[in-house]
Amino acid sequence: LVSRENHPERSTVRVGGVPIGPGTVTLIAGPCAVETPEQTLQAAEMAKAAGATLLRGGAYKPRTSPYAFQGLGEAGLRILADVREETGLPVVTEVVDAHDVELVASYADMLQVGTRNAQNFALLQAVGGSGRPVMLKRGMNATIEEWLMAAEYIAQRGNLDVVLCERGIRTFETATRNTLDVSAVPVAQRLSHLPVIVDPSHSGGRHDLVLPLTRAAVAVGADGVIVDVHPHPEQALCDGPQALVDGDLAELADVMRRFPALL
Ligand code: PEP
Repeated sequence: LVSRENHPERSTVRVGGVPIGPGTVTLIAGPCAVETPEQTLQAAEMAKAAGATLLRGGAYKPRTSPYAFQGLGEAGLRILADVREETGLPVVTEVVDAHDVELVASYADMLQVGTRNAQNFALLQAVGGSGRPVMLKRGMNATIEEWLMAAEYIAQRGNLDVVLCERGIRTFETATRNTLDVSAVPVAQRLSHLPVIVDPSHSGGRHDLVLPLTRAAVAVGADGVIVDVHPHPEQALCDGPQALVDGDLAELADVMRRFPALL
């Protein structure tokens, strides 16, 4: 269903009216985690000023350590819905448990499946039946074939509004948190008709790499990028070191504005 063999035209997925697909580079930005209404609104305003047309923000955080901030849950979803009301930005947010899909879908415009759940087949089937577009991160240990098969689980439930997101894979390299596999973008686009975006924040895990990796993503033909922004990264409850700050936004906006010239 997701293969380009039977569907040669590349697809565009619409999220609350915002297109993700060929001919455009969609910027999705926002805080890694929803922490407070003020922090989320400030991050959303920063995102919008940089040219973002979709707001990201996690209310359910799949953290490596059980002692780390796990997200605000439904209270976080309510904050996201309020911030959408204020800014007009449709909301992309992660769901980590099949039992929460209905609840998260009642607040979100797009459901995100994270790298740690990329082969959680019950969750993939549940988001497939949610009636919402889905952003499927590549599993950090998944081959491109396994990633596309995960998308197939969603599509099999009748949901073809799936956007693939390359977010870095595990390699021997320790200088970065993950290794951004730029070749995965054109490879996945050749094998599948689904849009492919890149997450330069979670791949590098480092603030200073987000803009160079964004340029790489755009240059290699990604259909969008999803980046973390935070008004005060030093106080962030989740992934502060990779968040863009106000001072970076003009440069980010410039990369996005110049994208046709980069192709
Ligand atoms: C995220 O985008 O908030 C996230 C946790 O990403 P990943 O699943 O790629 O680590």
